[in-house]
Amino acid sequence: MFDVSFDGERVPLTEVQEHPARFARRLERAKVVPGFAQCHCRTDAPRKLVIRRYGYLFHLAGWPDDGVHHVEGCDFRKKPGTTTRTGSDRTAAIITGADGLNVRLDASMVQREVSSVPRSRTGERSCGTSRRSAPLLAFLQTLWSSAGLTSWAGSTPARGWGTVNSMLLAGLGEDTRINGSPAQGVLYVMRRYEESERDAINAEFDDFLRCVTNDGKV
Ligand SMILES: [Zn+2]
Repeated sequence: MFDVSFDGERVPLTEVQEHPARFARRLERAKVVPGFAQCHCRTDAPRKLVIRRYGYLFHLAGWPDDGVHHVEGCDFRKKPGTTTRTGSDRTAAIITGADGLNVRLDASMVQREVSSVPRSRTGERSCGTSRRSAPLLAFLQTLWSSAGLTSWAGSTPARGWGTVNSMLLAGLGEDTRINGSPAQGVLYVMRRYEESERDAINAEFDDFLRCVTNDGKV
């Protein structure tokens, strides 16, 4: 596994992926100045990495359109032509944009005892042509694919929770929207449990649950 550097420190990428809380402050500082991290998979030319915040933590993602310059086996490597653009069909349930997904999800967190009420379609404006919606499994498959998790270069002995978590967040992009809402507000990507982080992890999840409200539309 290759090293990354930020805030004057060089560490293996897996360390950052498996223990994001340990690096949160340093990544936060680097996000401000100089505004990026670096991947050292290429010794001759370190590649810039985007530092993104998701929830309380930070994660690293490939610099836009720079994936081809990372070496084979690097998590930030993207082969030419693998970046999909499906913006032409505006009625598609999942539209892949330049920096994230736009998803119309057919999923409800509503619980009711009698299912005689037709399912309402909320959070989307009608523009004359109704947009299709995707079930949860289709969304998860698309997210898995956009995160590059359908293949594995074998750069690490095993694909751990931290790596998958980090790659999923990178795959979400900067501006993924689900039923019109920013992903950060409606999608909780659970990080790997660490006993030392127990209180923080529980607090993060509680904060997310507090955002789940009844909009009274059903
Ligand atoms: Zn790299």
